[in-house]
Amino acid sequence: MLLLIFAITGLCIGSFINVVIYRLPIMLLREQQPERFAELPADFSLARPRSHCPYCRCALGPLQLIPVVSWLWLRGRCPHCKVGIALRYPLVELLHGGLFTLIAWQWPSPVTTLALCLFASLLLALAVIDYQHMLLPDALTLPLVWSGLLLNATPFGLVSLHSALYGAVSGYLSLWMLQILYRWLKKQEGMGGGDLKLFAALGAWLGVESVNGVALIASLLMLVAFLAISNPKKNRLLPFGPALIAGAGIWLMSLTPALQPLFTGWLYTLTPSFTLITPLP
Ligand SMILES: [Zn+2]
Repeated sequence: MLLLIFAITGLCIGSFINVVIYRLPIMLLREQQPERFAELPADFSLARPRSHCPYCRCALGPLQLIPVVSWLWLRGRCPHCKVGIALRYPLVELLHGGLFTLIAWQWPSPVTTLALCLFASLLLALAVIDYQHMLLPDALTLPLVWSGLLLNATPFGLVSLHSALYGAVSGYLSLWMLQILYRWLKKQEGMGGGDLKLFAALGAWLGVESVNGVALIASLLMLVAFLAISNPKKNRLLPFGPALIAGAGIWLMSLTPALQPLFTGWLYTLTPSFTLITPLP
């Protein structure tokens, strides 16, 4: 019953996360290029105007905003102009609901569960925003740094406060050094400042023990993505944020009793630092 409540709450908050993913980058880009977004209302924010179709701007009613169900019912099209609604909307809602359910199932402490749900929500928003815009807003990364340190200062934390503090510093510094090295070797920017703050936040939440493992998984994912997706002719830069976030997700899941067997073999061999960690009860 509790898991069902978390699943439904996760789906509904996932719907709001979709709003953040769509509107927050527009709000930030508008500050730099007001002329590009001149047609937007002056009070455009996360709350205003009401949810609407981005093409015909028709407001959507409550029945058209039910997570996943509405998208399926409308067959992925706007009820007014019939333009397709991106598959991203139901996928984010489903993934968000799934993450909430997984966290509630695996973590017995209610405070840790709620904190990890917040962690998952912000990371999911950051991953999609970075994938779409190559942007990791301070409005999301900085609260994650503080909240990770605060959580780990309480008895409900995932790691000790020492580990969280060193995790935040080493996460930030490791990418900062990489950034300096890349700039020196290639005479161009390879990594944005948002990646540094994101890695500091992951270190603050998961502790210094996680930094090596998360960096290694993220690098492997980047290599796979580079070989699989990247078109060398287009020279498109790949965002590093989603890889870091996936790395943190895999690290966190490998600590849960139910999912640990999936990871023990390959992950523990890859990152010896995993063996230093006592699995969660
Ligand atoms: Zn429409």
